[in-house]
Amino acid sequence: ASTRRVAVVTGSNKGIGFAIVRGLCKQFDGDVYLTARDEGLGKNAVEALKKEGLNPLFHQLDISDPTSIQNLKTFLHKQYGGLDVLVNNAGIAYKVDSPAPFAEQAELTLKVNFWGTLNVCDALFPLLRPHARVVNMSSMVSTMVYKGCSDAIKHRIKDPDITMDQIKDLIREFEFAAKANQVEEKGWLKSAYGTSNVGVRVMSFIQQRELSKDTQRPDVIVNSCCPGYVATDMSSHKGTKTIDEGAVTPLYLALLPPNVVSPKGEFVSEKMVEHW
Ligand code: NDP
Repeated sequence: ASTRRVAVVTGSNKGIGFAIVRGLCKQFDGDVYLTARDEGLGKNAVEALKKEGLNPLFHQLDISDPTSIQNLKTFLHKQYGGLDVLVNNAGIAYKVDSPAPFAEQAELTLKVNFWGTLNVCDALFPLLRPHARVVNMSSMVSTMVYKGCSDAIKHRIKDPDITMDQIKDLIREFEFAAKANQVEEKGWLKSAYGTSNVGVRVMSFIQQRELSKDTQRPDVIVNSCCPGYVATDMSSHKGTKTIDEGAVTPLYLALLPPNVVSPKGEFVSEKMVEHW
Protein backbone atom coordinates (compact mmCIF):
# COMPACT_ATOMS: atom_id res chain seq x y z
CA ALA A 1 0.00 0.00 0.00
CA SER A 2 1.11 3.53 -0.75
CA THR A 3 1.34 6.10 2.03
CA ARG A 4 -0.05 8.74 -0.29
CA ARG A 5 -2.77 10.81 1.38
CA VAL A 6 -6.32 10.10 0.30
CA ALA A 7 -9.75 11.76 0.58
CA VAL A 8 -13.20 10.27 -0.05
CA VAL A 9 -16.47 12.15 -0.60
CA THR A 10 -19.73 10.18 -0.56
CA GLY A 11 -22.59 11.02 -2.96
CA SER A 12 -20.41 13.32 -5.02
CA ASN A 13 -21.65 12.83 -8.60
CA LYS A 14 -23.70 16.02 -8.24
CA GLY A 15 -24.72 18.79 -5.86
CA ILE A 16 -22.66 19.89 -2.87
CA GLY A 17 -20.61 16.67 -2.85
CA PHE A 18 -19.46 17.38 -6.41
CA ALA A 19 -18.33 20.87 -5.35
CA ILE A 20 -16.54 19.41 -2.31
CA VAL A 21 -14.57 17.11 -4.63
CA ARG A 22 -13.77 20.11 -6.85
CA GLY A 23 -12.49 22.03 -3.82
CA LEU A 24 -10.45 19.11 -2.49
CA CYS A 25 -8.86 18.59 -5.91
CA LYS A 26 -7.65 22.19 -5.68
CA GLN A 27 -6.68 22.27 -2.00
CA PHE A 28 -5.98 18.77 -0.68
CA ASP A 29 -2.49 17.31 -1.03
CA GLY A 30 -3.28 13.74 -2.11
CA ASP A 31 -5.70 11.62 -4.11
CA VAL A 32 -9.37 12.61 -4.11
CA TYR A 33 -12.13 10.06 -4.69
CA LEU A 34 -15.44 11.10 -6.19
CA THR A 35 -17.86 8.32 -5.28
CA ALA A 36 -21.38 7.58 -6.48
CA ARG A 37 -23.90 4.78 -6.18
CA ASP A 38 -24.34 4.85 -9.97
CA GLU A 39 -21.06 4.18 -11.75
CA GLY A 40 -22.13 5.94 -14.97
CA LEU A 41 -23.15 9.13 -13.17
CA GLY A 42 -19.95 9.03 -11.15
CA LYS A 43 -17.67 8.61 -14.15
CA ASN A 44 -19.45 11.42 -16.03
CA ALA A 45 -18.86 13.69 -13.05
CA VAL A 46 -15.17 12.76 -13.01
CA GLU A 47 -14.96 13.63 -16.72
CA ALA A 48 -16.61 17.01 -16.07
CA LEU A 49 -13.96 17.86 -13.48
CA LYS A 50 -11.17 16.63 -15.76
CA LYS A 51 -12.34 19.19 -18.31
CA GLU A 52 -11.66 21.82 -15.64
CA GLY A 53 -8.10 20.51 -15.40
CA LEU A 54 -8.72 18.67 -12.12
CA ASN A 55 -7.89 15.05 -11.47
CA PRO A 56 -10.35 13.22 -9.21
CA LEU A 57 -10.43 9.40 -9.10
CA PHE A 58 -13.59 7.30 -9.00
CA HIS A 59 -14.87 4.52 -6.80
CA GLN A 60 -18.40 3.16 -6.60
CA LEU A 61 -20.15 3.58 -3.24
CA ASP A 62 -23.77 3.10 -2.26
CA ILE A 63 -23.91 3.96 1.43
CA SER A 64 -27.07 1.89 1.92
CA ASP A 65 -25.33 -1.25 0.60
CA PRO A 66 -22.99 -3.01 3.08
CA THR A 67 -21.21 -4.93 0.29
CA SER A 68 -20.46 -1.71 -1.58
CA ILE A 69 -19.07 -0.16 1.64
CA GLN A 70 -16.88 -3.23 2.26
CA ASN A 71 -15.55 -3.08 -1.32
CA LEU A 72 -14.45 0.53 -0.81
CA LYS A 73 -12.86 -0.36 2.51
CA THR A 74 -10.88 -3.24 0.98
CA PHE A 75 -9.79 -1.01 -1.91
CA LEU A 76 -8.59 1.81 0.35
CA HIS A 77 -6.79 -0.60 2.63
CA LYS A 78 -4.95 -2.22 -0.28
CA GLN A 79 -4.16 0.93 -2.23
CA TYR A 80 -3.42 3.36 0.58
CA GLY A 81 -3.35 1.48 3.87
CA GLY A 82 -5.32 4.34 5.39
CA LEU A 83 -7.66 7.29 4.96
CA ASP A 84 -7.03 10.99 5.62
CA VAL A 85 -10.29 12.78 4.77
CA LEU A 86 -13.83 11.38 4.76
CA VAL A 87 -16.78 13.59 3.83
CA ASN A 88 -20.10 11.86 4.47
CA ASN A 89 -22.17 13.98 2.13
CA ALA A 90 -24.57 11.45 0.56
CA GLY A 91 -28.17 11.96 1.61
CA ILE A 92 -31.78 11.99 0.50
CA ALA A 93 -34.85 14.05 1.29
CA TYR A 94 -38.44 13.54 0.18
CA LYS A 95 -40.15 16.55 -1.36
CA VAL A 96 -42.76 18.18 0.88
CA ASP A 97 -45.50 17.22 -1.57
CA SER A 98 -44.36 13.57 -1.84
CA PRO A 99 -47.33 11.20 -1.85
CA ALA A 100 -45.24 8.45 -0.18
CA PRO A 101 -46.62 7.39 3.22
CA PHE A 102 -44.73 8.94 6.13
CA ALA A 103 -43.67 5.55 7.52
CA GLU A 104 -41.99 4.75 4.20
CA GLN A 105 -40.34 8.19 4.05
CA ALA A 106 -39.04 7.74 7.59
CA GLU A 107 -37.65 4.28 6.90
CA LEU A 108 -35.81 5.16 3.70
CA THR A 109 -34.57 8.57 4.89
CA LEU A 110 -33.10 7.11 8.08
CA LYS A 111 -31.76 4.09 6.20
CA VAL A 112 -29.60 6.26 3.98
CA ASN A 113 -28.89 9.40 6.01
CA PHE A 114 -28.41 7.89 9.46
CA TRP A 115 -27.75 4.14 9.19
CA GLY A 116 -25.87 4.43 5.88
CA THR A 117 -23.61 7.18 7.19
CA LEU A 118 -23.02 5.24 10.42
CA ASN A 119 -22.14 2.07 8.48
CA VAL A 120 -19.65 3.98 6.33
CA CYS A 121 -18.04 5.37 9.48
CA ASP A 122 -17.94 2.00 11.22
CA ALA A 123 -16.26 0.45 8.18
CA LEU A 124 -13.79 3.22 7.36
CA PHE A 125 -12.85 4.67 10.77
CA PRO A 126 -10.31 1.88 11.45
CA LEU A 127 -8.44 3.21 8.38
CA LEU A 128 -8.25 6.82 9.62
CA ARG A 129 -4.68 7.96 10.08
CA PRO A 130 -3.39 10.47 12.64
CA HIS A 131 -4.64 14.00 11.74
CA ALA A 132 -7.53 12.57 9.68
CA ARG A 133 -10.58 14.81 9.24
CA VAL A 134 -14.17 13.56 9.01
CA VAL A 135 -17.11 15.75 7.99
CA ASN A 136 -20.67 14.48 8.38
CA MET A 137 -23.37 16.43 6.56
CA SER A 138 -26.28 17.39 8.78
CA SER A 139 -28.34 20.57 8.54
CA MET A 140 -29.90 23.42 10.51
CA VAL A 141 -33.14 21.47 10.31
CA SER A 142 -31.63 19.42 13.17
CA THR A 143 -31.95 22.46 15.46
CA MET A 144 -35.54 23.00 14.35
CA VAL A 145 -36.45 19.39 15.03
CA TYR A 146 -34.69 19.46 18.40
CA LYS A 147 -36.69 22.54 19.42
CA GLY A 148 -39.94 20.84 18.45
CA CYS A 149 -39.30 17.66 20.47
CA SER A 150 -40.61 16.82 23.94
CA ASP A 151 -38.45 17.73 26.93
CA ALA A 152 -37.72 14.05 27.50
CA ILE A 153 -36.33 13.62 23.97
CA LYS A 154 -34.45 16.94 24.13
CA HIS A 155 -32.79 15.77 27.32
CA ARG A 156 -31.60 12.57 25.64
CA ILE A 157 -30.35 14.38 22.52
CA LYS A 158 -28.34 16.86 24.58
CA ASP A 159 -26.94 14.39 27.13
CA PRO A 160 -23.12 14.89 27.05
CA ASP A 161 -22.70 11.22 28.04
CA ILE A 162 -24.99 9.83 25.31
CA THR A 163 -23.60 6.61 23.83
CA MET A 164 -23.81 5.24 20.27
CA ASP A 165 -26.26 2.59 21.49
CA GLN A 166 -28.45 5.32 22.95
CA ILE A 167 -28.59 7.42 19.77
CA LYS A 168 -29.32 4.26 17.77
CA ASP A 169 -32.19 3.51 20.18
CA LEU A 170 -33.53 7.03 19.80
CA ILE A 171 -33.55 6.74 16.00
CA ARG A 172 -35.17 3.29 16.21
CA GLU A 173 -37.88 4.74 18.45
CA PHE A 174 -38.61 7.41 15.84
CA GLU A 175 -38.81 4.78 13.10
CA PHE A 176 -41.11 2.67 15.24
CA ALA A 177 -43.34 5.66 16.02
CA ALA A 178 -43.48 6.50 12.30
CA LYS A 179 -44.66 2.97 11.51
CA ALA A 180 -47.31 3.19 14.22
CA ASN A 181 -48.35 6.65 13.04
CA GLN A 182 -47.49 8.05 16.50
CA VAL A 183 -44.61 10.38 15.77
CA GLU A 184 -46.09 13.48 17.41
CA GLU A 185 -47.71 11.50 20.22
CA LYS A 186 -44.28 10.12 21.13
CA GLY A 187 -42.81 13.61 21.34
CA TRP A 188 -41.20 14.06 17.94
CA LEU A 189 -41.59 16.61 15.18
CA LYS A 190 -42.89 15.00 11.99
CA SER A 191 -39.68 15.36 9.97
CA ALA A 192 -37.80 12.26 8.87
CA TYR A 193 -35.09 14.35 7.22
CA GLY A 194 -34.68 16.58 10.29
CA THR A 195 -34.52 13.55 12.58
CA SER A 196 -31.79 12.04 10.39
CA ASN A 197 -29.90 15.34 10.74
CA VAL A 198 -30.25 15.16 14.54
CA GLY A 199 -28.96 11.58 14.46
CA VAL A 200 -25.91 12.46 12.36
CA ARG A 201 -25.13 15.50 14.53
CA VAL A 202 -25.25 13.48 17.76
CA MET A 203 -23.36 10.59 16.12
CA SER A 204 -20.51 12.95 15.20
CA PHE A 205 -20.27 14.24 18.77
CA ILE A 206 -20.02 10.67 20.11
CA GLN A 207 -17.49 9.67 17.43
CA GLN A 208 -15.21 12.55 18.42
CA ARG A 209 -15.45 11.64 22.09
CA GLU A 210 -14.41 8.06 21.28
CA LEU A 211 -11.64 8.97 18.81
CA SER A 212 -10.15 11.48 21.27
CA LYS A 213 -9.41 8.53 23.58
CA ASP A 214 -7.35 6.78 20.89
CA THR A 215 -3.74 7.56 21.83
CA GLN A 216 -2.42 5.56 18.85
CA ARG A 217 -4.06 7.98 16.42
CA PRO A 218 -3.74 11.54 17.71
CA ASP A 219 -5.58 14.51 16.28
CA VAL A 220 -8.40 12.77 14.41
CA ILE A 221 -11.29 15.25 14.14
CA VAL A 222 -14.97 14.66 13.36
CA ASN A 223 -17.50 17.45 12.92
CA SER A 224 -20.98 17.70 11.46
CA CYS A 225 -22.18 20.72 9.53
CA CYS A 226 -24.85 22.59 7.62
CA PRO A 227 -23.82 23.77 4.15
CA GLY A 228 -26.51 26.50 4.08
CA TYR A 229 -29.47 26.59 1.71
CA VAL A 230 -28.00 25.43 -1.60
CA ALA A 231 -29.44 25.25 -5.12
CA THR A 232 -29.35 21.49 -5.84
CA ASP A 233 -31.77 18.79 -6.89
CA MET A 234 -32.51 18.21 -3.20
CA SER A 235 -33.75 21.78 -2.71
CA SER A 236 -35.44 21.75 -6.16
CA HIS A 237 -32.87 24.45 -6.98
CA LYS A 238 -34.57 26.91 -4.63
CA GLY A 239 -31.49 27.29 -2.43
CA THR A 240 -29.79 30.70 -2.47
CA LYS A 241 -26.20 29.40 -2.48
CA THR A 242 -24.30 27.88 -5.40
CA ILE A 243 -22.85 24.39 -4.83
CA ASP A 244 -19.38 25.92 -4.43
CA GLU A 245 -20.68 28.29 -1.76
CA GLY A 246 -22.34 25.31 -0.08
CA ALA A 247 -19.01 23.49 -0.11
CA VAL A 248 -17.22 26.23 1.86
CA THR A 249 -17.99 25.01 5.40
CA PRO A 250 -17.51 21.29 4.65
CA LEU A 251 -14.20 22.08 2.92
CA TYR A 252 -13.06 24.20 5.86
CA LEU A 253 -13.76 21.25 8.18
CA ALA A 254 -12.15 18.70 5.85
CA LEU A 255 -8.99 20.81 5.67
CA LEU A 256 -8.65 21.87 9.33
CA PRO A 257 -4.91 22.27 10.00
CA PRO A 258 -3.08 19.85 12.33
CA ASN A 259 -3.75 20.07 16.06
CA VAL A 260 -6.51 22.69 16.08
CA VAL A 261 -8.35 22.92 19.39
CA SER A 262 -11.77 23.68 17.89
CA PRO A 263 -14.09 22.78 16.17
CA LYS A 264 -13.99 19.18 17.38
CA GLY A 265 -17.11 17.05 17.63
CA GLU A 266 -19.16 20.16 16.93
CA PHE A 267 -22.00 21.13 14.63
CA VAL A 268 -20.75 23.90 12.35
CA SER A 269 -22.63 26.36 10.16
CA GLU A 270 -21.00 29.19 8.18
CA LYS A 271 -17.70 28.06 9.75
CA MET A 272 -19.11 28.75 13.22
CA VAL A 273 -19.98 26.34 16.03
CA GLU A 274 -23.71 26.13 16.75
CA HIS A 275 -25.34 24.69 19.87
CA TRP A 276 -28.71 23.01 20.26
P1 NDP B 1 -28.36 16.23 -4.05
O1 NDP B 1 -29.66 15.54 -4.04
O2 NDP B 1 -28.03 17.21 -5.10
O3 NDP B 1 -27.17 15.15 -4.02
C1 NDP B 1 -27.21 14.08 -3.14
C2 NDP B 1 -26.09 13.12 -3.50
O4 NDP B 1 -26.19 11.98 -2.61
C3 NDP B 1 -26.23 12.57 -4.92
O5 NDP B 1 -24.94 12.37 -5.46
C4 NDP B 1 -26.92 11.23 -4.70
O6 NDP B 1 -26.68 10.28 -5.71
C5 NDP B 1 -26.22 10.82 -3.41
N1 NDP B 1 -26.86 9.70 -2.74
C6 NDP B 1 -28.15 9.55 -2.35
N2 NDP B 1 -28.34 8.35 -1.80
C7 NDP B 1 -27.14 7.70 -1.85
C8 NDP B 1 -26.68 6.43 -1.45
N3 NDP B 1 -27.50 5.52 -0.91
N4 NDP B 1 -25.38 6.11 -1.62
C9 NDP B 1 -24.53 7.00 -2.17
N5 NDP B 1 -24.91 8.21 -2.61
C10 NDP B 1 -26.20 8.55 -2.44
O7 NDP B 1 -28.25 16.88 -2.59
P2 NDP B 1 -27.35 18.08 -2.02
O8 NDP B 1 -26.10 18.22 -2.76
O9 NDP B 1 -28.23 19.25 -1.83
O10 NDP B 1 -27.05 17.51 -0.55
C11 NDP B 1 -25.81 17.02 -0.12
C12 NDP B 1 -25.86 16.89 1.39
O11 NDP B 1 -26.05 18.18 1.97
C13 NDP B 1 -26.99 16.00 1.89
O12 NDP B 1 -26.54 15.22 2.96
C14 NDP B 1 -28.03 17.01 2.35
O13 NDP B 1 -28.87 16.50 3.36
C15 NDP B 1 -27.15 18.14 2.87
N6 NDP B 1 -27.83 19.44 2.91
C16 NDP B 1 -28.25 20.06 1.77
C17 NDP B 1 -28.89 21.30 1.83
C18 NDP B 1 -29.33 22.05 0.61
O14 NDP B 1 -29.85 23.18 0.74
N7 NDP B 1 -29.20 21.53 -0.59
C19 NDP B 1 -29.12 21.97 3.13
C20 NDP B 1 -28.65 21.23 4.25
C21 NDP B 1 -28.01 20.02 4.13
P3 NDP B 1 -27.73 10.07 -6.96
O15 NDP B 1 -27.38 11.10 -7.99
O16 NDP B 1 -27.46 8.67 -7.39
O17 NDP B 1 -29.13 10.26 -6.41
